Amino acid sequence: MSSSPTLTPTDIARIALKRLAELGLPPTPDNYGRFYNAVATIKTPQDKTDVELRNAYAILFQIAEVVDEVSETADQLLLGLDLGSRHIHDSLLILRSGPAASGLEQLVNSLIGSTDQVYRTVSASQRDLQELRDAIERIQSDLDVNRQTMERDPLTGALNRQGMEQLLNREVKRSHRTATSLCLAMIDLDDFKQVNDRWGHLVGDHVLIHFVRVAKAVLRETDLLVRYGGEEFLLLLPDTDLNGAHFLIDRLRQVNLRTPFHHDDQTIEVRFSTGLAQLRPDENGHGLLVRADAAMYQAKMNGRDQVVLAN
Ligand code: GH3
Ligand code: MG
Ligand code: MG
Repeated sequence: MSSSPTLTPTDIARIALKRLAELGLPPTPDNYGRFYNAVATIKTPQDKTDVELRNAYAILFQIAEVVDEVSETADQLLLGLDLGSRHIHDSLLILRSGPAASGLEQLVNSLIGSTDQVYRTVSASQRDLQELRDAIERIQSDLDVNRQTMERDPLTGALNRQGMEQLLNREVKRSHRTATSLCLAMIDLDDFKQVNDRWGHLVGDHVLIHFVRVAKAVLRETDLLVRYGGEEFLLLLPDTDLNGAHFLIDRLRQVNLRTPFHHDDQTIEVRFSTGLAQLRPDENGHGLLVRADAAMYQAKMNGRDQVVLAN
């Protein structure tokens, strides 16, 4: 299991400045601060492909543009409304003071002019804001696509560890709130090193891809499959108690044995060891994970190719 390196403040500053230079933006404190924060909250670049990085920056830039435009539109709206309301106020003051009949027509014209001006300001701002709202919707859907690719393991398409903690916490909270059961299965492929040694790493990769396909076929829509490490997977099973989870893992074992990976007329069989734990009423996600992990270790100790239920 490798943990992702964290960015130091100097790294973040360096990337933010490089980004500003690329976009030809002056390194004003405002610009610098905006990009510094943006870089600080995204995934570490070492973990990301160039395409992901470019997408993330493109979206950040779009967001910065929209924010600028929103504040500009709001400024214009405020200015327009302020001017208009002052004119109207002045005209009303004169009206209340009982103006000469000769000045009345001019006063009414001025009032109409001012309300007209306010109306035009509001309409223009409304159009601008509608356009901005459309832009924000486009950014939202870009962000969604970006988040989805960042959450996936590029080899197998399973979820990666990046978003796992949030998913785990979300499911744990939901389970506590709705008093429904939640199970976590820690799965580790047995003797996978031998697969690589015998068939080569590339074939090993395809065996992993195949295993994920098989697992996905067995799982429900609501079950979550995370590639936790190289050949370790974590299954999060909402609305499932220990019995149900055990049944599901047995089914996965059967289907996996019936559908081995084929390579050059040969079949490559992999088996797996599973640690299974059900969330306790007073437990958090971390506690659940630790118990499932310990049970998986026990399954290895007991001779592999089996399920051990956490106590
Ligand atoms: P155990 O039954 O104790 O789990 O034995 P194992 O050989 O599966 O465990 P070990 O931790 O010794 O080795 C894990 C192997 O998984 C070694 C590593 O090269 C392989 N592996 C991890 N990630 C990948 C990957 O992305 N592709 C390939 N082909 N192999 C991988
Ligand atoms: Mg293994
Ligand atoms: Mg392992």
